Amino acid sequence: MDTKVVLIDEQHIDDELIREAGRIIRAGGLVAFPTETVYGLGGDALNPASSKKIYEAKGRPSDNPLIVHIADMESLPAIVENVPETAKKLAAAFWPGPLTMIMKKAAAVPGETTGGLDTVAVRMPSHSVALAFIEAAGGYVAAPSANRSGRPSPTVADYVVEDLGGRIEMILDGGDVELGLESTIVDLTVEPPVILRPGFVTEEDLVGVLGQVEQDATLFADDSGQAPKAPGMKYRHYAPKGELTIVRGSAAAVTDYINTGLSEGREKNKKTGVIATDETIGSYRADVPRSVGKRTDVNAVAKGLYRILREFDDEGVELIYSESFDGGGVSQAVMNRLLKAAGHRVIDVSCTRR
Ligand code: AMP
Ligand code: MG
Repeated sequence: MDTKVVLIDEQHIDDELIREAGRIIRAGGLVAFPTETVYGLGGDALNPASSKKIYEAKGRPSDNPLIVHIADMESLPAIVENVPETAKKLAAAFWPGPLTMIMKKAAAVPGETTGGLDTVAVRMPSHSVALAFIEAAGGYVAAPSANRSGRPSPTVADYVVEDLGGRIEMILDGGDVELGLESTIVDLTVEPPVILRPGFVTEEDLVGVLGQVEQDATLFADDSGQAPKAPGMKYRHYAPKGELTIVRGSAAAVTDYINTGLSEGREKNKKTGVIATDETIGSYRADVPRSVGKRTDVNAVAKGLYRILREFDDEGVELIYSESFDGGGVSQAVMNRLLKAAGHRVIDVSCTRR
């Protein structure tokens, strides 16, 4: 299949291109599109054949549910059993934006879209291209991230082309995404609601609106022994090809530990990489040193992480060390993805000596 890649400017959206993308979805085809979080791989959420195609194109197991994207609140009642009060409050506070809510699904949503679950994940993105596209597509776009299964979510259209070129009808290239990590997911079918995936809408944000929320036990812990809450959560998240270790502790001890590890790696002729910050990057001796930006700017860290992980794979890096990004707020989203990428390999140097 030929994949049509088109540039689309958020400030001056070309209506004819959006209509063309919408027609592809209505006809059962697939279009990748930019959102404020990461690029999505869209299909008609109410068409079981489209959802099947999404799983095929991604190489993703079909019991891993998709998120249904809508463009306005009027679209919500048709796809859920009822709209809970909690959803109304959260929508008023955070939609359009990087928050996905799990609710009981209506009959209109096929099991192919929800991985066989009786619940559906719904999000209203804020990216103007995404909103125009969803509307043109008929109002309900099922979309996971637009990467091949096992790779990091794409933050630029080039990565979508790399992963899905030749497998889908069209890619809307809207440039760099704004945030760089996937949406926060909150399950509203339980009381109190539970965060299934941390993101830019933080635990504190959700508590501010709902009063009480819990965090799923597997967000920061090794979940290999836990029964998965949702089918999607049992799948191994993206892990780089190289061995990634997170090092936590005081700045000086972390730098020391990582540099020792890097020189041991070099002695074994391994290609080495490091994930650090502007403040510290100069003190590491790695083949592929990468700064995620200023440590104080957690949004920059979030935005740079997936690109750096892809670059390590592209460069054939075999041994990777990363500084740790502990803290509240958006740091929770960063650490959740980093811990999964590292397979929970963390060294705490405040209590370890080599
Ligand atoms: P992605 O954003 O590409 O990682 O894909 C969507 C993710 O949302 C899935 O992997 C699930 O973890 C989650 N998800 C989607 N629908 C549901 C649902 N009904 N219940 C729980 N989690 C869901
Ligand atoms: Mg994904």
